[in-house]
Amino acid sequence: MNTSYRTHTCGELRPSHIGQTVTLCGWVQKDRDLGYILFLDLRDRYGITQVSIKSDEQAELYEKVAKFGREFVISVTGKVVERESKNNKIPTGHIEIRPDEITVLNPAKLPPFLIEDETDGGEELRMEYRYLDIRRPKVARSLMIRAKMMQAVREYLTGQEFLEVETPYLIKSTPEGARDFVVPSRLHHGTFYALPQSPQILKQLLMVAGVDRYFQIVKCFRDEDFRGDRQPEFTQVDCEMSFVSQDDVLSTFEGMTKHVFRQVAGVELPDFQRMTYKHAIETYGSDKPDLRFDAKFVELNEQMKGTDFGVFNNVIDGNGLIVGIVAKGCASYSRKQTDKLIKWVKDPQIGGTGLVFVKYNEDGTVKSSVDKFYDEAHLRRIGEHAGAEPGDLLLIVADKLKGKARKVLGQLRLHMARQEGWIDESKWSVFWVVDFPLFEEDEETGSLTFAHHPFCMPRPEDLEYLYSDDPNDRKRVTAQSYDMVMNGNEIVSGSIRVHDRKVQDKIFEILGLTDEDKEAKFGFMLRAFEYGAPPHGGCAFGFDRWAMLLAGEKTIRDVIPFPKTAGGRDLMMDAPAGVPLDALGELGIQLLEE
Ligand code: ASP
Repeated sequence: MNTSYRTHTCGELRPSHIGQTVTLCGWVQKDRDLGYILFLDLRDRYGITQVSIKSDEQAELYEKVAKFGREFVISVTGKVVERESKNNKIPTGHIEIRPDEITVLNPAKLPPFLIEDETDGGEELRMEYRYLDIRRPKVARSLMIRAKMMQAVREYLTGQEFLEVETPYLIKSTPEGARDFVVPSRLHHGTFYALPQSPQILKQLLMVAGVDRYFQIVKCFRDEDFRGDRQPEFTQVDCEMSFVSQDDVLSTFEGMTKHVFRQVAGVELPDFQRMTYKHAIETYGSDKPDLRFDAKFVELNEQMKGTDFGVFNNVIDGNGLIVGIVAKGCASYSRKQTDKLIKWVKDPQIGGTGLVFVKYNEDGTVKSSVDKFYDEAHLRRIGEHAGAEPGDLLLIVADKLKGKARKVLGQLRLHMARQEGWIDESKWSVFWVVDFPLFEEDEETGSLTFAHHPFCMPRPEDLEYLYSDDPNDRKRVTAQSYDMVMNGNEIVSGSIRVHDRKVQDKIFEILGLTDEDKEAKFGFMLRAFEYGAPPHGGCAFGFDRWAMLLAGEKTIRDVIPFPKTAGGRDLMMDAPAGVPLDALGELGIQLLEE
């Protein structure tokens, strides 16, 4: 770190340096002027070092420094001494600098918010001045974690013969189920490049090309409406391997994940469980369940039979589902609390039709919202079946559509966990979900779309359903595809790919692509597959979300150097922005009147 400006960084000095004369450079985080002594905190990316100046010993320097504003860039030369009152919270807290000389390298305007971990700046302001926000130690730390992760990823993959290959950003649409960002061509009016939603097709072509093992830490672009914590451009660790089975891919990337956790967080992850998609949905109502807490689903159709309760009887007769979870220790919920839960479930965003609850009170009594229809003995039997103990609350939802009942309860399970603090934040839950369906039915149109993307290979035993004349059989096709779930987030998604042109053709046909569509969209890929495509498979890691988890942050914006707002705006650069009319003219583009 020794440069012509400095001998050490602000995070480096320890008691072993006492007596040395050093020069540090950095920003004035704050000063405390006690009249007889002035303390100044000097900050750089590496840490904070205290500088102290006594007014009686160094009157001139004292006067000068007292006039410094926050965030002035200065250089300090002086002696390292032992601190009188030590600060055990920071690594440099046992020493300080007694300066001989302080030089202002650049003064600074007063920043619009406090550049400290606890800041008074709202998110929009911080994004507008992101370069100041990144000076906050917490943000700088996140970027360092991110960099360390990239390094560990490269270390592991290159150690396993993966070749880092760059693929282009100006390409043709690749289907990951989102809308493309398009870039107009100046040289070929009326035509557009698409920015990659992922390098999916290109990495598969690299396998045809014999690259054998590929990876890339790569930007992907998806023009989606705002849904949750997403960014229009994000980073993937994109990987592909030839001559592999699903097991080979899973064990390779389980190894990589463990390596990164070890290197970056010092965490030893146990071997990853493999859970089927079906089990995840039926037990947790989600294909990315958070397993840091239990609250498994209990199906209750049988137990709820035999009364006059029309709502449940209709669901049972309609082959729907009644399903519940036990909320440990929540029998003491007040009327107000249960009403609030019912309202939450009925919110259109959640989509529930209602919520039934049964309280198994500490004193042994049982009370429910359906006391009119179920006597105490009946409710007790249900509680026994569900594993409810005195003090517990059983929450039950029902729907004629099984999938909907599970989805609503899955969301309620998470909501309760957050509300009741069931999640042990010190735990990691990392595992694989396998055996996803190849197709999903569009609830509105009844048509089939791909569940992940159209290049996933069906399980060999399901190929017959692909070619069956009964369209319902297609819904039975299970793909050799998998996700890795980390603390309830989908971090990895991947599959063994179709390498046989005939199978790929069939999948496109089922998805409703005409021969012309196929040729226009994927002709180049299908042709490549006729020139010796090896069996291959791979996956991609959502790098930002993984970094968010390892940095202990709540949104991916916190770990992206220059993120966009929820509405896709860059507040610092003020993008997207208009372009001059003549630039549009060169592109052959005319804007419509709004
Ligand atoms: N390209 C896929 C995605 O971005 C991942 C994969 O199948 O490798 O979701």
